[in-house]
Amino acid sequence: MMIKNSRLLIIPLGEAGQSLLAGLAASLARVFGMEAGVGEQLPIPGAAWSRRRRQHSSGKVLTVLARIASASSGPRPVLLGVTGVDLFTPGLNFVFGEADPRGRVAVISLARLDSAQAGAPGGSGLLHERALKEAVHELGHVFGLAHCGDPGCIMHFSNSVRDTDRKGPGFCPGCLAELTPGGSVSSPDAQ
Ligand SMILES: [Zn+2]
Ligand SMILES: [Zn+2]
Repeated sequence: MMIKNSRLLIIPLGEAGQSLLAGLAASLARVFGMEAGVGEQLPIPGAAWSRRRRQHSSGKVLTVLARIASASSGPRPVLLGVTGVDLFTPGLNFVFGEADPRGRVAVISLARLDSAQAGAPGGSGLLHERALKEAVHELGHVFGLAHCGDPGCIMHFSNSVRDTDRKGPGFCPGCLAELTPGGSVSSPDAQ
């Protein structure tokens, strides 16, 4: 999977903890060894709202992001939408994020990473750390990784913020090897 020469653009979708995003871009640039920046804020796509679920559909957000990626000039960027609204996919109560490897786009939600809501321990660095973990996880999917059975690996599926806190910020050796046959990805340091 091509990470080299990829360019990551974080797209804030509505209220998205904007103060967090520059730091997130810097961390992701370091983890994946690629250029990363923060783009202009866009509204959360209205078409993604489900009146029945009272949540936004992650799949529909991905469709919009893929369209934006196709329309951008120059080499197609990898897009990561970050939003404060709660996301769902059919069959699950909620998702922390979702990825579309074909469109090379992903989205994460901060809605359930907040300690106050999660009933989990808090701290000022925690939201950044959790957002980074979810972003690395979804971008791992974008770059071709599947879920991993190792509960300490970033590619392990998170059911709750506790799972997110339990897993390390990095890829297990197996996932890392699959991600970088050439070896340009570094293990993220927690912060
Ligand atoms: Zn996943
Ligand atoms: Zn793994």
